[in-house]
Amino acid sequence: MNNAVYNFPLPQNEPILNYFKGSPERTLLEKELKKQSQTILEIPLIIGGKEIRTGNFGEIRLPHNHNKVIARYHKAGKAEVEMAIKAALEARKNWSDLAWTIRASILLKAAELLSIHYRSVINAATMLGQSKNIYQSEIDAVCEAIDFLKYNVGFAGRIYEMQPKSTYNQLNKMEYRALEGFVLAVSPFNFTSIASNLNMAPVMMGNTTLWKPASTAVLSNYHLMKVFMEAGLPDGVINFLPGQGSVIGNICLASKDLAGIHFTGSNVTFNGLWTQVSTNLSRYKSYPRLVGETGGKDFIFVHPSANIQDVCINAIRGAFEYQGQKCSAASRMYVPRSLWAGIKNGVYELAEDIKMGDVTDAANFMNAVIDEKSFDNIKSYIDFARNSNEAEIIAGGQCDKSTGYFIRPTVIATTNPRFKLMEEEIFGPVLCVYVYEDSKMEETLDLCDSTSPYGLTGAVFSTDRIAAAHMCEKLRYAAGNFYINDKPTGAIVGLQPFGGSRASGTNDKAGGEFNLLRWVNPRTIKETFVNPDDYRYPYMKQEE
Ligand code: NAD
Repeated sequence: MNNAVYNFPLPQNEPILNYFKGSPERTLLEKELKKQSQTILEIPLIIGGKEIRTGNFGEIRLPHNHNKVIARYHKAGKAEVEMAIKAALEARKNWSDLAWTIRASILLKAAELLSIHYRSVINAATMLGQSKNIYQSEIDAVCEAIDFLKYNVGFAGRIYEMQPKSTYNQLNKMEYRALEGFVLAVSPFNFTSIASNLNMAPVMMGNTTLWKPASTAVLSNYHLMKVFMEAGLPDGVINFLPGQGSVIGNICLASKDLAGIHFTGSNVTFNGLWTQVSTNLSRYKSYPRLVGETGGKDFIFVHPSANIQDVCINAIRGAFEYQGQKCSAASRMYVPRSLWAGIKNGVYELAEDIKMGDVTDAANFMNAVIDEKSFDNIKSYIDFARNSNEAEIIAGGQCDKSTGYFIRPTVIATTNPRFKLMEEEIFGPVLCVYVYEDSKMEETLDLCDSTSPYGLTGAVFSTDRIAAAHMCEKLRYAAGNFYINDKPTGAIVGLQPFGGSRASGTNDKAGGEFNLLRWVNPRTIKETFVNPDDYRYPYMKQEE
């Protein structure tokens, strides 16, 4: 029997590879892109470790070339969801009883498999299926996914280590039990790493999951599932269930065994799930844990002392990388009148310089938005601005869905600080700018704080450190991830724990202790060594 008391140190973050032309990683990736482009993969459901085919198909098309189908996936119906709940509950006992270091070793092996054997596979699937360029895919599907796996192992150890004090004549312990039931993990299309973590965080703490992947991300998510299985994940610990959200959600949320929902996606969907859980509350064995990271209306606030070049480059990267489809993407910017001419010119030149197109052309900084629904929605915001007398299109504005869902990086200036595009999440490559009078900075900071319902990310630019501190203080609740002289995107696991409040979610900071603590149900155990020999207290005896 292995009785080592072992803990895992917090890891180094996974290095981002360069992918220079001719490098071994680039050659492997190009080969894999070709291979995945030439096949139509058939993707089954995976329930209790078994592949299930329903014959009710969905398709994965390349967002940047939507005539091309690269995968077809089977969709779950009522019977499969019920089967998956059963499988998760069956697998739960052994999985939660297993020594946590063994669970940890499976996560660590999955991380190494991703890094060493499946880097090109997961990158190619994310690039093709979700239309990411090499860099955007590498930092997400590989590096962040690996970081989540490894950091969660390290943080789990720190949680298990937290024990109450034992004092005279007693021994106290805290047992970190898994939740009683199953966790529903509902993942968004935009980050492969998030999909991985929504399952693996609860799984690390001894839970089992039903995984509802986003329909547009099924290809990369299926490859992840295969990696988890190769790493030794026992049957039924994660049950992979592509299909229609409401079908899967309704059945899971009606189950008395729903122990938690681990969600990332839009505010509207999360609100719907929360409402449904409240309606069903009296059915559940325990109060389900609801953890959700949702939308954002992320800002850049420019102080009159800011460096113009820093602002322009970070605005471009922050607003347009991955076509603005990051919850943290900059989508509104406040610029002082004194800097506007320089910033307007700078962002115009950089935005117009951006190359956009197929993911296999490494020169492309941007690719397509995810699907037609998203394209039409983003275009409707651009059209709204085009037809408004409160707005002017400074750069971009062109939308073309003839081959792929392409929207040029668009910068819009508005004279109304409460213009629709300053308030609502657009989730596309659109940056709306409000120019404020330098003398009205305080009022404009108040506007920035109160304009949108969200509170996810925000950045301030200032060379005056005292002014930056003041802005940081004033915007305390406007963002859960706050940046000084940096873009509001690109949080790294272990370095900038991620999440926001207000309408942006429950702010449980994915990839750290805060999140992992939501997936345990602690039991306190007190043991007494020697008991009293009388029910009365000693001082009472003296009174006799
Ligand atoms: P979405 O809300 O449309 O979908 C998210 C998931 O919910 C998908 O898997 C979808 O199929 C599923 N779903 C929809 N209805 C359901 C139901 N009734 N029951 C169960 N599942 C259901 O979001 P999306 O378009 O995939 O992702 C974009 C959104 O995600 C944006 O709002 C973005 O800001 C947000 N996001 C937030 C973070 C964060 O950390 N805060 C990170 C990434 C994305």
